[in-house]
Amino acid sequence: MIIALYPGSFDPITNGHLDIATRASRLFDKTIIGVFATPSKHLTFSIEERVALAKEATKNLPKVEVMPYQDVTVEFARKVNASVLVRGLRMVGDFEWEFEMAMMNQLLAPGLETINFMASQEYQFLSASLVKEVSLLGGGVNKISKLVPPNVEAALKKKFLTKK
Ligand code: ADP
Repeated sequence: MIIALYPGSFDPITNGHLDIATRASRLFDKTIIGVFATPSKHLTFSIEERVALAKEATKNLPKVEVMPYQDVTVEFARKVNASVLVRGLRMVGDFEWEFEMAMMNQLLAPGLETINFMASQEYQFLSASLVKEVSLLGGGVNKISKLVPPNVEAALKKKFLTKK
């Protein structure tokens, strides 16, 4: 049984993330979306919110599970018996960081293989931070339905439109 861990901050989960999770779930027996509790970046959604949004968005993917984690990623991978780390790779910007991280994880946990999925064409320029920026600016929040699942669109509207 091959278990894959797809780690990230998922703040919030987007259609780009869902595309990677769906494609990974066709290859592995189980794909765990690991929601990292305390990334070193400014967060919009709490860990509970990020996990709930990801769970709802993946409820029709039977081989995908969502779990929060606090540890170093490789340690969490060990705890859940994952032998593969899944990450996405967009054409611009991701490569160096993903490469660095894969090298570090290889050093920390030899045998845990990182597999990078090329982002699909329609999601190459989609990032959670851009979606939030557009939402924050008001009008954009009504135009993001192609980029995020319906429950995330609703959560963004609630968060950003009620603030205005
Ligand atoms: P992190 O904070 O670790 O960058 P993210 O949640 O932003 O976590 O991203 C998790 C993973 O998902 C990363 O490998 C990132 O490259 C990938 N990813 C993010 N957006 C997309 C997208 N639009 N298409 C494919 N992969 C993506």
